[in-house]
Amino acid sequence: MGIYVTMRMDENENSAFVKSIKTNRRFIRPCPGTPQHVCCGYQIIDFARGCDIGCSYCILSTYFGSEAPAFYGEWERLFAQLDEFLEKSRGLVRFGTGEFTDSLLFEKSYPLYNRLIPYFSRRTDSVIEIKTKTTNIESLLEIEDHDNTITAWSLNSKYIAETEEGRAAPIHRRIEAARAAQDAGYRLAFHFDPIILYEGWENGYRETIDMLFRSVDPKNIVYVSMGTLRFPPKMKASIRKLASGEFIRGKDGKLRYFRPLRTRAYNTIKSYLSEAVDDSRLYLCMESPTVWEDVFGTVMTSHGLRKRLDRACFSKFSRLEEKKGLR
Ligand code: SF4
Repeated sequence: MGIYVTMRMDENENSAFVKSIKTNRRFIRPCPGTPQHVCCGYQIIDFARGCDIGCSYCILSTYFGSEAPAFYGEWERLFAQLDEFLEKSRGLVRFGTGEFTDSLLFEKSYPLYNRLIPYFSRRTDSVIEIKTKTTNIESLLEIEDHDNTITAWSLNSKYIAETEEGRAAPIHRRIEAARAAQDAGYRLAFHFDPIILYEGWENGYRETIDMLFRSVDPKNIVYVSMGTLRFPPKMKASIRKLASGEFIRGKDGKLRYFRPLRTRAYNTIKSYLSEAVDDSRLYLCMESPTVWEDVFGTVMTSHGLRKRLDRACFSKFSRLEEKKGLR
């Protein structure tokens, strides 16, 4: 049984309100993916749930309602489960902490990464991605032993960030944080997700990508993902405010833009990204094999995407070993 801690952020910084609840939940779980779509196959370190940054499109509200963000405090068990999981694993394992929360939401009040990052730097079979819309990286910058860690930012157009992403850091501040992480020696990743179509979206995404490549060196980028807006039907009323046009229901039951719109969005943004990042480090998040073919000219499978991202990690992290069939 473990300690379950909940918190809310105030207007400025993380300020925690703590209460104890018993839990015996497992910390490691596979990304649930989405049926009939190509999945990157990473493992979630499920250390926390919920987020009060307040993005209007956030799907977490449909999982957790208005519950305060919370994390599981029994981290000895987390590390024991990591040991056990990796002992049994065969290939490279890519972990992430940003699936059910923002990875750095709690970091100022309840630091986790001063243990988690050095843990991965000692390993030769796994990497960890820390994904955020915040600039809470001060403590990460002090960690010298950070091989096998990817610091990642979700990015969007300035307009979408300002109108739909609540109290997330402004885009230029996220990019400044990425630059600081790079300068401290971290590898980087970026996620253009959700891409939202509105009048002038092309210029909006162009502006963000130009700003990004003026600030960070593309050779330090492990991968960049793209994903267009998708949401369960029960979010339709709130989403209507931010997305014009009609949506179709995909094979996973989620609503999304029609395929030609998605393809156009991906091809446009990919053309901007490709000025600095080769295709082998670009991917689509939760897309169909046919849209992959529209954009990359190849029908992608989940196995193929896993291998693509594994290779991207091998190319950036020299300490990963060629053993257990990792490559
Ligand atoms: S930052 Fe991520 S987890 Fe937090 S509200 Fe926005 S989309 Fe949801």
